[in-house]
Amino acid sequence: MKKITTVCPYCASGCKLKLVVDEGKIIRAEAAMGKNNQGTLCLKGYYGWDFIHDTQLLTPRLRTPMIRRQRGGPLEAVDWEEALDYVAGRLDAIKKKYGPDAIQTTGSSRGTGNETNYVMQKFTRAVIGTNNVDCCARACHSPSVAGLQKSIGNGAMSNAITEIDRTDLVFIFGYNPADSHPIVANHIINAKRNGAKIVVCDPRKIETAKIADMYIALRNGSNIALLNAIAQVIIAEDLYDKTFVAARSEGFDEYRNLVAGYTPESVEKITGVSAQEIRRCARLYATAKTATILWGMGVTQFYQGVETVRALTSLAMLTGNLGKPHVGVGPVRGQNNVQGACDMGVLPNTYPGYQSVNEAANREKFARAWGVESLPAHPGYCISELPHRAAQGEVRAAYIMGEDPLQTDAELAAVRTALSDLELVIVQDIFMTKTAAAADVILPSTSWGEHEGVYTAADRGFQRFFKAVEPQWDLKTDWQIISAIATRMGYPMHYNNTQEIWDEMRHLCPDFYGATYEKMGELGYIQWPCRDESDADQGTSWLFKDKFTTPNGLAQFFACEWLAPQDKINHDYPMVLSTVREVGHYSCRSMTGNCAALVALADEPGYVQINSEDAEQLGIKDRALVWIVSRKGKIISRAQVSDQTNKGAVYMTYQWWIGACNELVSENLSPITKTPEYKYCAVRVEPIVDQ
Ligand code: SF4
Repeated sequence: MKKITTVCPYCASGCKLKLVVDEGKIIRAEAAMGKNNQGTLCLKGYYGWDFIHDTQLLTPRLRTPMIRRQRGGPLEAVDWEEALDYVAGRLDAIKKKYGPDAIQTTGSSRGTGNETNYVMQKFTRAVIGTNNVDCCARACHSPSVAGLQKSIGNGAMSNAITEIDRTDLVFIFGYNPADSHPIVANHIINAKRNGAKIVVCDPRKIETAKIADMYIALRNGSNIALLNAIAQVIIAEDLYDKTFVAARSEGFDEYRNLVAGYTPESVEKITGVSAQEIRRCARLYATAKTATILWGMGVTQFYQGVETVRALTSLAMLTGNLGKPHVGVGPVRGQNNVQGACDMGVLPNTYPGYQSVNEAANREKFARAWGVESLPAHPGYCISELPHRAAQGEVRAAYIMGEDPLQTDAELAAVRTALSDLELVIVQDIFMTKTAAAADVILPSTSWGEHEGVYTAADRGFQRFFKAVEPQWDLKTDWQIISAIATRMGYPMHYNNTQEIWDEMRHLCPDFYGATYEKMGELGYIQWPCRDESDADQGTSWLFKDKFTTPNGLAQFFACEWLAPQDKINHDYPMVLSTVREVGHYSCRSMTGNCAALVALADEPGYVQINSEDAEQLGIKDRALVWIVSRKGKIISRAQVSDQTNKGAVYMTYQWWIGACNELVSENLSPITKTPEYKYCAVRVEPIVDQ
C-alpha cells in the first residue's frame, strides 16, 4: 500500500489530498496538510476518485482511439498510429483549404494540468497558425479577467484565500461558497469566528446567508444598480478613503458623477432592496478596517458581467481595500485549474502569462522561442462564438479537449447544429461525454491520478500534482497526444516529461519564472508573481503594494448605467431561471457522476428549486415532476419547493444529463467577453398533471 500526495481535481480551492493505492488501485483518499485546506476536504475530495477505475455509473471511460469514417456511421476502434495520422491529415487538409482560422481548439480547465494547456495553445498558434484557442473560462470568469485587467491591471484574486480568515468584513456577492468551494467557505467561517462581519448579497438564501450579519436579497439581474447605489452612499456620506483615491487611482470625478444618480431610494424598485438596507450595507463595508469582496457566477454570467466586476472593484478602490493584506477583490474561480488554463494562454487574446497577442514584441518573442517565422496578430474566436462561426462557414473543424459543450454551453440546440455543421469534430477526453458521442474522432487520454503536472488554485497558487496509478488501457497523456499530432503536421514536438514543458513555459513568462518544480516540491504553494528562481522568492500573497499593473500604475474607476437583462419576462414566460451549482457534483458531471458515493447523494433528474408561494399558486407539490419552458426549449425536472428561493425565480444545476437546463438558456453574450447570460432566462413552470 502506498500514499501519493496530490491536489484535488474539482474546485479551485486547491486542496491537497493523499490517494491511498493498493495493488495498483486507488482505495481511498485522505486529507493532507495543504496551505488552503489544512488537513480537511469536502465530500468531493474524499469520495471523488473512483471514476478513474471506470465504474460506468453514468458513462464509460474511453479506452481506445475511435474514428467515425462518415457522418451518421458508427465509431470504430482504431490504433493510435491510425488515429493520429487521420487527425493530422484532416487538420492539414482543412487548414490548406480554408486557412488556419477555420480550426478552433480548446484547452481544459479540469484535471489535465498547466503543461497540457501550454502545449495546446502552442500547437494552435505555432502549428495551426491561429489564435482560435479558448477554454471554459469563457463561460465563467472571463468577465472577471477582462474587468480586473482594465481596472487594476491583473485579472486574478488580489489576495490569498487564507487571508480571508483575518479580514474584518467579507462581502459575498453573487457567490455561493458552501456549494462551489466548501474549503473557501471554511475560511469565511474562520473569519466569522475571528469577529468579522459577513454580508451576503444573493437573490437566493444560500447557506452562507445563514451565518451572515446582513443578508441582502436583491432582485435577479439588478447588480449594477445596487452597486452604484452603495457607491453613492459611501461618497455622499463621506465614508470613502480620500488618501487612497487621490494617490492611487484616477477617474474618480466621472465615477462620482455617474453614481450620484443612483440614490438608494431611486433603485428600490429595480433591486427590491430598501434604501435603509442599502445604506446599512454601504456603511458596513466602508467602515470596516479591512474588507474582502468575493464573487462568483452571480456577477459574471450576465450581459453586464464585465461592468459588474469593475463596479465591485471600484468599491474596493473607493474604500482603500486593495494593496495590503486581508483585503481585496476575489473572483473565486470554479474549476480546479481554470485559473491555470488562463495563465497558460488558453485564451484567444493572450499568450501564456497574459502577454497580449496584439503586441508585436510579444509575437516576436514567442515566434522566436517556438521556431516559427511569425504568429497571427489578430485575436482568435471565443468558444461561445462557435455556433455563429460554424453557421457562417468560418470555422470548419473543432478540436475539443476535456470539455463537454453539449452539456455545459448555453443554447444547446445551437451547439448541436454547430457541431453537425462542422467537417471535423475531434474530442480528447477521459469519458464518453455527450460531445464525445457526437465526435468524428475520439482520442482517449489519461485522467487525474494517472498523470502529473501543475495546477493553479483560485488565488494564483501553483501546486504540483502527482501520478498515483498506471492507466489500465491504451491511453496517452494529453500533451503526448497533441505533440504527436504536431509532429505529424511537420512541427516536431518532443517533450520527455511535464517538467520540460513547464521550464519552457516559465522561461517565456516573467511572472512565473521563479516557480520551479523543485521549489514547489510536494507540498509547496507558490502564488505568482514569482519572478526569481532563488529560494528567497516564495511568490506573492497579495498584489499592488506600491502600484497597480495598469499602464500608468493607477487603479481606474469605472461606473456605468444599469441595463435590464437581455431576456425579458412577460405573460408567457413570467419567471427567471438562474443556473447554479450543487455541492456533490462538478462541471458536466462526467467525473462525479461516476463516483458511487456522490451519486448516492444526488442523481437524475436533478431538480428545479422553486419558492413555496409560487409552487402553491401553480399547483406544484414538492418532488412533483414539472415542465420548464423557455423561448429556446422545454425540459422536465422535479420540483424542490422551499422558502430558500425568492419569489418569481427558479434555480437549476447545469449538471444533469436528462433535463439539461442549458437547453433553455439563451446565449445573450456579453459584448466584451462573449460570456452567455446563464443567470437570467425567462421561463414558465408547468405542473405535469395525472402523475
Ligand atoms: Fe476538492 Fe474543492 Fe472540495 Fe477542496 S473544496 S476537496 S478542492 S472540491
